[in-house]
Amino acid sequence: MDNLIGKHWHHLPAEEVIDLLDGNKDQGLDLFEINHRREKFGANTLTQKKGKGPLLRFLLQFHQPLVYILLAAALITFLLQEWVDAGVIFGVVLVNSVIGFLQESKAVKAMEALAQTMVTEATVLRSGEKRRISSAEVVPGDIVLLQSGDKVPADMRLLSIRDLQVDESALTGESVAVQKCMEVLPHDTILAERKNMVYGSSLVTYGQASGIVVSIGDDTEVGRISELLSSTEELETPLLKKISAFSKVLLYVILGLAALTFGVGLLRGQGAFDMFMASVALAVGAIPEGLPAAMTITLAIGVARMARKQAIIRKLPAVETLGSTTVICSDKTGTLTENQMTVQEIAVGSTFFEVTGGGYAPSGRILAPDGTASHASSAALLECLRCGLLCNDSLIVEKDERWTVQGDPTEGALLVAAAKGGLSDREETEARPRLDTIPFESQHQYMATLHTVPEGGLVVYAKGSVEAMLERCSLALSSDGEQVKLDADGILGAVDAMAAKGLRVLAFARMGLPEGRKTISHEDVASGMTFLGLQGMIDPPRAEAIEAVRNCHSAGINVKMITGDHAVTASAIARQIGLVRGEKALTGRELAEMSDSKLLETVEEVSVYARVAPEQKLRLVEALQTRGHIVAMTGDGVNDAPALKRADIGVAMGITGTDVAKEAADMVLTDDNFASIEAAVEEGRGTFDNLTKFLVWTLPTNVGEGLVILTSVLLGTMLPIVAVQILWINMTTAVLLGLMLVFEPKEPDIMARPPRAPDEPILTPVLVRRMLLVGVLLVLGAFGLFKWELSKNGATLEEARTVAVNLFVLAELFYLFNCRSLTKSPFALGFFSNPWIFAGCSAMILLQLLFTYVPAMNTAFHSAPIGIDSWIRLLAVAVSVMLIVGFEKRLLRKG
Ligand code: ADP
Ligand code: MG
Repeated sequence: MDNLIGKHWHHLPAEEVIDLLDGNKDQGLDLFEINHRREKFGANTLTQKKGKGPLLRFLLQFHQPLVYILLAAALITFLLQEWVDAGVIFGVVLVNSVIGFLQESKAVKAMEALAQTMVTEATVLRSGEKRRISSAEVVPGDIVLLQSGDKVPADMRLLSIRDLQVDESALTGESVAVQKCMEVLPHDTILAERKNMVYGSSLVTYGQASGIVVSIGDDTEVGRISELLSSTEELETPLLKKISAFSKVLLYVILGLAALTFGVGLLRGQGAFDMFMASVALAVGAIPEGLPAAMTITLAIGVARMARKQAIIRKLPAVETLGSTTVICSDKTGTLTENQMTVQEIAVGSTFFEVTGGGYAPSGRILAPDGTASHASSAALLECLRCGLLCNDSLIVEKDERWTVQGDPTEGALLVAAAKGGLSDREETEARPRLDTIPFESQHQYMATLHTVPEGGLVVYAKGSVEAMLERCSLALSSDGEQVKLDADGILGAVDAMAAKGLRVLAFARMGLPEGRKTISHEDVASGMTFLGLQGMIDPPRAEAIEAVRNCHSAGINVKMITGDHAVTASAIARQIGLVRGEKALTGRELAEMSDSKLLETVEEVSVYARVAPEQKLRLVEALQTRGHIVAMTGDGVNDAPALKRADIGVAMGITGTDVAKEAADMVLTDDNFASIEAAVEEGRGTFDNLTKFLVWTLPTNVGEGLVILTSVLLGTMLPIVAVQILWINMTTAVLLGLMLVFEPKEPDIMARPPRAPDEPILTPVLVRRMLLVGVLLVLGAFGLFKWELSKNGATLEEARTVAVNLFVLAELFYLFNCRSLTKSPFALGFFSNPWIFAGCSAMILLQLLFTYVPAMNTAFHSAPIGIDSWIRLLAVAVSVMLIVGFEKRLLRKG
């Protein structure tokens, strides 16, 4: 047990591995041993590869072209002994870097917190009992049970397998699943060929297995590949990439203009230093330096808001894409419905029984058609209930006077029905011990178990969809327990009657087998079974789903139900949820026969897809995407993974979903609830809105500042604002004004407009025009007031510049209210609905008073106190800017 590292586990027989690890194949480890090993080996987690350290991240803040320009400017002013200017520029660079650093840290933290919410679980055998534990608690020597859909928690030597296939792409890069075996392998077998081992981070795509853990945490194979350990994703999305590409182009344009300014100024005979400072002012003013940080913060806030609405974003670009979703394809069971199953009707032979009572409490009765309580009065009823009880992997437990299911709710309902019929779980399972299982898988639509029976011989019990059961049966049990010929049409009629009420119907069958068998396969139960009956259970629609579907419809988003359930059941539920009026469901079989071109037409119209195999989801996603849709698709099983990957937004279920589905998904719902998808779409739209609002607010300042400098140099006049003043404006307004837009609540009609076309530019022509308008108004205002102060008011240059700076800030401040909505007036939003705006504005005004009246500030920023009359003129111009934009918006609303 001491020297485990470097053992060639694949080269040893399984028994020897167990011995070396002091393990126990049948009992697992005991509590004492587990604690001991936890202490000795630590937790089964991978040490996070340290991302960039704080120091490096801080230094990287200086690694930007603009900062280089500023540092050069600081250096030159320093050499020219302009101490104050040099100090101010340098100070600004420093403050800017600190702010950028803090903002980035916040975003990184948000993403890290999300990464930690994705804990995986493992099923282990400990002290003779099966337990579900967090994968982090697995220790060497643990016996782990794997089944399809699981993520392998650590490196293990396999002890038993059943058709095990594992996707090891996380380790080997090979995405084709590997078939595993039990043979002892040669010493020098390479990792990818060690078929008697499974490795941490691999995904079980098929079958089941048990294995013993040989190494955990950083000692695992995946722990050794360091590149895989960077857990937090880059804060990159298509939009951020587009913006940084745009910024690069912009940078060159602005540097070109700055050089032009410098050249033109020199030719006009201006001093080289003045022209250098003017060029710096132009560059500083025109480059939107706050933009990337604001974008990142907005996205991080969007992610956090979605997490609060039970939608965990796994891949950051989803935050953007969500807002343009045009179709949501959702599972039915558990997502649109409660997954609270109660059997209400049982049909055996030609008799319908009614089951009373709700929930999972086993109190209620089974009533015969004449109203008498029929405690297993019919032999067929008894067999049907027994089949549901024995062919079952779930448990009903009472905790704090509440009955709940451990496992599959569908199976839980069958246990409750059996109890209501007077069958005892313990007695039945003791009398008929189980020998083998074919587990339920969506694509086979049934489950079967092999049992010994007291009267001798073996019996197979099977349950599943009506189609799957009828295929296997030729005989049926009549109401009084006689074997009779199967009346398939009669049964299908009964199913339709139940399904039309929205009941989920399961069919039951059994078959005798000669003694001596230990296992069963799909072939064994392909035919020759005896039909036992049907049980119909309700699964009420989620109340929130009904509203969420309504919201989606008003938001121009199609909702499609894709289910493995019966077509009639699916249609009935879809009607109750308001998904369809009376349209028929399309079945998986019809889908399979449909040509691609026909499907392209049909896929728009049909909203309910029933008896769909998970593989067919991929085809539906592709058809919808071909029609230009942005598709969100839900899934939980292994076979859903391809569709989840292909969809624009793959949505996995947090509770019922397998690890495979979660890994493939862009988003995980912690409550499995359809309403959470709708909420995430809403947040996605809100986030995108806020990004746009920030852009529309910030860019005109840059345009305005750039134009002011350019015009004044071209006209050969005095600069209305100098470089350090521009630095001041950009630094303070971005943080105190612009960033407040990030906290803007969603607009009330956000789900009443159609989805944004994904290829639509973020800045539409309307917005570009508005920004140019504001930019020009800023130039006119600043120039006008500057000139007026100088010529008419007899102001000094410092005073006139102070007025120009104040104009920029005040106009930005009032324009901020315009930007709270891209279309509506701020009053329509609720004027006080974003208190942050007022906090920011007050702070901003305070800073401007300091800027104007504090002597130290006057020295640092070349400002000077101004009179009340100047303020009045300033206010008048700034308010006019707001009113003009308000007027423009109103024209647009009318037009
Ligand atoms: P969905 O989740 O969309 O309802 P499933 O693929 O889970 O669809 O189920 C499809 C059908 O398989 C159900 O209509 C039911 O007849 C059958 N079924 C569901 N769960 C089980 C189970 N645990 N055992 C046997 N059959 C099942
Ligand atoms: Mg299901």
